[in-house]
Amino acid sequence: MDRSIIKQLERIVGADHLFTAPEELRCYSYDATGQVFLPEAVVLPGSAQEIAAILALANAHRFPVVPRGAGSGMTGGSLPVRGGLVLGTGRLNRILEIDPANMIAVVEPGVVTGDLQAALKKFNLMYPPDPASLKFCTIGGNAAECAGGPSAVKYGVTKDYVLGLEIVLATGEILQTGVRTEKGVVGYDLTRLFVGSEGTLGIFTRLILRLLPLPERKASYLLTFSSLAEATGHVSRLLAAGIPPCTMEYMDRTAISVVRERIPLKLPEETAALLLLELDGSEREVALQQARLLDYLTRERIAYRQAASEAEAQEIWQARRAISPATFALKPHKISEDVVVPRARIPELVNFTEDLARELALTILTFGHAGDGNIHVNIMLDRSIKEEEARGEAARQRLFIFVVGLGGTLSGEHGIGITKSRFLPLELSPTALTVMRSIKKLFDPNQILNPGKIFPEPG
Ligand SMILES: Cc1cc2nc3c(=O)[nH]c(=O)nc-3n(C[C@H](O)[C@H](O)[C@H](O)COP(=O)(O)OP(=O)(O)OC[C@H]3O[C@@H](n4cnc5c(N)ncnc54)[C@H](O)[C@@H]3O)c2cc1C
Repeated sequence: MDRSIIKQLERIVGADHLFTAPEELRCYSYDATGQVFLPEAVVLPGSAQEIAAILALANAHRFPVVPRGAGSGMTGGSLPVRGGLVLGTGRLNRILEIDPANMIAVVEPGVVTGDLQAALKKFNLMYPPDPASLKFCTIGGNAAECAGGPSAVKYGVTKDYVLGLEIVLATGEILQTGVRTEKGVVGYDLTRLFVGSEGTLGIFTRLILRLLPLPERKASYLLTFSSLAEATGHVSRLLAAGIPPCTMEYMDRTAISVVRERIPLKLPEETAALLLLELDGSEREVALQQARLLDYLTRERIAYRQAASEAEAQEIWQARRAISPATFALKPHKISEDVVVPRARIPELVNFTEDLARELALTILTFGHAGDGNIHVNIMLDRSIKEEEARGEAARQRLFIFVVGLGGTLSGEHGIGITKSRFLPLELSPTALTVMRSIKKLFDPNQILNPGKIFPEPG
């Protein structure tokens, strides 16, 4: 990017919102993968029109533009791997509308997910997707990755709540998709195409979100098991018993060990795995679900604790959310995967990862969204030991092959980015890849939007 382009960018966003100093570029050079790629410049535009002007400029001069929310992505999606411009959405952070009568919200992409949820509580409403990063990640980043969280087992993921989008295309045109209504089938569903597109097809500047009434009551339970296979074996049976939890998470022994002191309830010494369950609904619904759950737990002789208060329940969920960062107490680096398998096959997956850890002498911990089969597999590493890194990479490859063989998928919520792109052919047929590449070419003929992401490099 030469001086004249920088000058033109400055004219579009104003000097206060353009950064080129190395220490400023550094702040926009990393994400949760820990990888670092320096951009040549960073802009923080204040409107869709400014973004349109930036993309028109980029398209004319063929420089890469990489959208960035909070940079909390796990797969390198916001990293400027081919240099160019990082476009941060930090200034586009307004909740534009909350419409309780029609149960929708209209927001800008830089709104922090947890801030939206807090604002909605005052209206007795909720926006269900609840990634563990909700205190800092943005709605724009969530839509680009199709983020999910513990509540997905009952409420689904981001794509189930995005009704419509305003998107700036690579050419600088502004596209409106979707509806403000519960239903709508006019033309192709472009909203669904863009949700999960990882910033490669367009930049979201406005999102119309579907809301739900806030449940009247919640009850949280912690179930303890002396083996991981036993814990995961109960997942599909609990659901089949007519207990529809709004969250159903599990932790293996290592995951428990990294957050043990944060869990407010005393765990039996021999605990090898936990299931965390939350029930929600009206007073009546929760009472009915509780009765069914207690009946099941008694019948199956499963030890459990119930959170005695809302504060205690919050502490349990905070401990769950703390697992991912806390794993770095074990090793300085990790390969963090979020594979999904059919629920009934979770025990096979966890047996496989335990065997893999033993065979390759690695620490591999698993935890996550048992209710929907989305398992976080963390392969802990010290990348300065090259031979350990190689064992970790071998474990990842074998994990993916195994997961696809179980009828599963490589990612449930973190996306592909740069970390998984070379494994795409394991899951997608050449025809599927060709169709996807054609869609990319249609929306971004000059490959300026977030290049180097999702698709495997030739060879
Ligand atoms: C501790 C921790 C826990 C996490 N837990 C979860 C979890 O439970 N569930 C889950 O799904 N994820 C989780 N994540 C991953 C991450 O938080 C999500 O992927 C989140 O959606 C990323 O949001 P972000 O604002 O940080 O986006 P970024 O990381 O900045 O960007 C992510 C992608 O979105 C694109 N993008 C950003 N804004 C826009 C926009 N306006 N228009 C178009 N594209 C855009 C970027 O180009 C990039 O490809 C976790 C991460 C951490 C660090």
